[in-house]
Amino acid sequence: MRKIGLMGGTFDPVHIGHLLAAVSAKEAAKLDEVWFIPTSIPPHKPQPGTDAVTRCEMLKAALSGNPAFRLETIELEREGASYTIDTVIALQAREPDAQFYWIIGSDMINNLPHWRRVEELAERISFIGLERPDQPSNDGELPPPLRRRLLRAAMPPLGISSTDIRHRLKEGRSIRYLVPEAVHDYIQRNDLYGS
Ligand code: ATP
Ligand code: MG
Repeated sequence: MRKIGLMGGTFDPVHIGHLLAAVSAKEAAKLDEVWFIPTSIPPHKPQPGTDAVTRCEMLKAALSGNPAFRLETIELEREGASYTIDTVIALQAREPDAQFYWIIGSDMINNLPHWRRVEELAERISFIGLERPDQPSNDGELPPPLRRRLLRAAMPPLGISSTDIRHRLKEGRSIRYLVPEAVHDYIQRNDLYGS
């Protein structure tokens, strides 16, 4: 069975925290591939968000050169809000020979109990959790059926977020080395985030 990690996010923009999390999860769980799944911008996120095409272009630039990483646009093709459970059901139907893992940072670990139909989700997949130094998790508070399905992977802690990157750009500060060089160039070239 192929083992595939799924990493959902808004990726507004993708940064090295996402990439290092994916590499670390891949090594820890011996995954064959990691698929990055950009989501439609949820209404509670700071607006205006960056359009899907632009976020995909930045992802493609970030992922190019790593044959184990790829962009999966399934959530952008669907109408309305994206729920992870719907994405997983669709991917399992499409790829019956694959075993899926959902990769999340610690802010999402804390949020897990609020995900739609999360018990059913936890029967279908395992989660791989990575710690974010600025947004620590408390796994102890997870209900046991979720805790049992949470694997941990270690990475050098990176207190990097897309929110901080957007703020830096707005203030005219540098984001060099916080994102891959190709993403940095794309943002400059297209005057994104008030850069
Ligand atoms: P924003 O600040 O806009 O929410 P973000 O940096 O949190 O952006 P997302 O696209 O929301 O990025 O996150 C996608 C996934 O990557 C989430 O599971 C998130 O927890 C994880 N992630 C993001 N940054 C890091 C990081 N520095 N270390 C580990 N995991 C991360
Ligand atoms: Mg986030």
